[in-house]
Amino acid sequence: MAELRFFFGTMGSGKSTQALQIHHNLASRGLGCLLISQLDRQTGRVSSRLGVSAEAVVLDATIDLYRVIRQEHLRGDGLHAVVCDEAQFYVPAQVDQLARTVDEFDIEVYAFGLLTTFQGRLFDGTQRFLEVADVRSELQVEARCWCGKRATHNARLVNGRQVYDGEITVVGDTGGDAVVTYDLRCRQHWMAELRVSDQSALFDDGPLLDLRTMDLSSDL
Ligand SMILES: [Zn+2]
Repeated sequence: MAELRFFFGTMGSGKSTQALQIHHNLASRGLGCLLISQLDRQTGRVSSRLGVSAEAVVLDATIDLYRVIRQEHLRGDGLHAVVCDEAQFYVPAQVDQLARTVDEFDIEVYAFGLLTTFQGRLFDGTQRFLEVADVRSELQVEARCWCGKRATHNARLVNGRQVYDGEITVVGDTGGDAVVTYDLRCRQHWMAELRVSDQSALFDDGPLLDLRTMDLSSDL
């Protein structure tokens, strides 16, 4: 039985590289494999920082993935698998369409995406993949924070300063002279630049709290 597999990691964790590797391995064995990507891969190619690339079908949020995959599946020798890059940008309905593809056509789906936005929240697409996937797996290539700890968060920097507000995707020119870049952080350093006022309540030296206790019991 085919499965819907969702692999997640930060930027620099090798998502596109793995997507390309799976696509290459299947295609080289003559198995039908559709590579799809989303939004900012305008060129129609998925490429990794390691320099490999392959042609991909580029989508937007309006495309019915079930129909696209069914059409590709019914022509020629059929599809064995679909590999999805930039999976965080899929809309939840498209994730459901992928799940339906797995169940109705027995096509394997391998999806690769980011877990959280620069705001530290799950992407909508990612949330849906976590909800419906048969397998959820964190990529084991460990990107690092500047401090050396494992990077778990994506930070957006505007003119070198970390920001927590703004559009989820910045496409093209932001209108001013602002230079938008991304960097990786461990949680501690991702949170470090949140406004002091947001965190002060956590560290106030107030009176000790009077904590209530209760008995936990189990039927086991
Ligand atoms: Zn750090």
